[in-house]
Formats: sequence, structure tokens, C-alpha cells
Amino acid sequence: MVPQVSIVIPLYNESEVLPQLVERINKLINASPLKIEVVLVDDGSKDNTAEQIQQLSLTDDRYQCVILARNYGHQLALSAGLAAATASEAIMIIDGDLQDPPELLPVFYDLYKQGNDVVYAVRKKRKEGALKRISYHLFYRILRSISYIEIPLDSGDFSMVSRRIVDVLNQMPEESRYIRGMRTWIGFKQIGYEYDRDERQAGDSKYSFKKLFKLAYNGIFNFSEFPVKLITNLGFFSISVSLVYLVYNIIKKYVYGGVPQGFTALLFAIILFSGVQLLSLGIIGEYVLRIFFQVKGRPLYIVKKRIVNKEIKDQ
Ligand code: UDP
Ligand code: MG
Repeated sequence: MVPQVSIVIPLYNESEVLPQLVERINKLINASPLKIEVVLVDDGSKDNTAEQIQQLSLTDDRYQCVILARNYGHQLALSAGLAAATASEAIMIIDGDLQDPPELLPVFYDLYKQGNDVVYAVRKKRKEGALKRISYHLFYRILRSISYIEIPLDSGDFSMVSRRIVDVLNQMPEESRYIRGMRTWIGFKQIGYEYDRDERQAGDSKYSFKKLFKLAYNGIFNFSEFPVKLITNLGFFSISVSLVYLVYNIIKKYVYGGVPQGFTALLFAIILFSGVQLLSLGIIGEYVLRIFFQVKGRPLYIVKKRIVNKEIKDQ
């Protein structure tokens, strides 16, 4: 029988938290009247996460695992999990560190059954450092104000999505993936559900600042035209300022006479506008880079091994 619900969990160096995760998920599955499958994705872990999840899926057929060939990052690992999920009705996406309580599954499923294609979790409180909290708060508000779709505030990937949403996500070929944005872009009926985000239950965050920035960049450059419009506006602005300045100097020369002064102003203008030009080039470069990576048409990730129904499938 095809499972009704899949739980997809990307894992990168999560061997510390894994036993706890499995215990809580087992409890949940055993208590649920639904047929549930769990898709564990190993995103090139350097600890023994991969061995642990292989063991698990060889002994328990409710678990399947996807081992990726290297670390591709959270969004791609998640995409690999979504592609492997077989549930007929809905797919739940959670983090491996138990910050997202899997116990919300029945609540999400009810909301899904009421006709919502996406049930996304909205964080009421975050139990994280002040700097991270403030940065996240600001980022989501900036992104919302400049984006051409209405990406919900304070919601991450933690969600339950319908089969048809996942089918569309699997078909979207974009290489730089920002799944919470892609999910919003698809449409249908989407609803938020507020919850308190827990602390990570073991280990440290696997999102380095570099990875976090990459994610934020993907959000901004893939779901907003703002950076390009900004260049145009900066251009218009500097042309206007220089024209006003020109007129001012011509009047000054003919009314008061004398040679215009202002070596400092000149230097300032040169430096300022070199900066503006470099910034503009950088912004265009971001888009060119994205085009460059996209046209290569490489597969998004490479699967090294899969275990489904206790059977090993090497790729
Ligand atoms: N993760 C991943 N690949 C990565 C980084 C993270 O699969 O390169 C997974 C990680 O194991 C976890 C989830 O993505 O299940 C969220 O990461 P984390 O909890 O470290 O992020 P944070 O909550 O600190 O933003
Ligand atoms: Mg976390």
C-alpha cells in the first residue's frame, strides 16, 4: 500500500541527534492511523549519519534513505528527499535537529484535509541568539517588501505540502533553490500555523554564515526584481544630481565669475560613482552567474545510494 504521508528530513552531520529523532518519529508513526513513510537524506555527512540511516532503513521498511554523493546544502538535500517521497496525499518537511516538532503532523494533516495545499509553520518565538533572531526578523521583512510574491513572514521550510505541490516542485528545474519561495510561487490554498520553535536538541547549527548568506541571496535574487531596478534608479539619481550640479556651476561662473573650485568634491564624486558602478556590475554579475549555472543544465545533485523497502539501490 502506498503511504499516505511522507516525512522528509535532510541530515548533515546529525548523528548526535538522530537517535532522539527516530525515537520521536517512531512514537508518532505508531500512534497514527495513517500509513506514514520517512525519507531520510544524508547530505554528505562527515560523521556516521549515513551509516546510521542505512542501518535503520535496512531493518525498518517505514524508513527509506537517500545518500548523496557529497554535501550539496540543505535546499538540495531537501529537493532530493522530495523527489524520493512516494506518499499519495501529503509530504511533511522537517529539520533533523527537532527544532520543528514532528508531533504537529496530525494537526497539519487536518489542515491539509480541509483543503489546504500548503500548511506552513510560522514561528512565534525563536530560541536562538539575539543576533541570529534580529537578522532573521529583518531579512524576512526586507524580502517581503521587495519580492514579487508574498512570501509569508517568519516561516521556513517546516511545512506539510500536498502531492500536487511536490509534483510541481520536482518539475521546477531551478538550480539555486529557495524552497519556501518556490512553494509560495506555486499557489493553491496556503495557510500558516503558529508554533513555538524549539531549541536544537543536540549538536551545533549546520548552517554556516556562508550557507546562510547563500540562502538569503537566493531568496532575494530569485524572487525580486529590486536589485536590477535599484541600479536603474541609482543611474537616474546620479544623472539628475550631476545635471543640477552642472547648472549650478554655470550660473555661478557667469554671475560671480571665476573658475569653479572643488577638488575634494571631484574626488568624492569619482570615488562614490566608481563604487556605484562596481555595485551595479556586481548585481548584474549575480544574475549572470545564475544564468551561467542554470544553462549548464547539470543535475541538481547526485545520489550515491538509496535504500527503499529494505533493498539497496546503488546508483
Ligand atoms: N542541513 C543539510 N545540509 C547542510 C546544512 C544543513 O542537510 O549543508 C540540514 C541539517 O542537518 C538540518 C537542517 O538542514 O536538518 C537545518 O539545519 P540547521 O538546524 O543546522 O539550521 P538552523 O536551524 O541552525 O538554521
Ligand atoms: Mg536547526
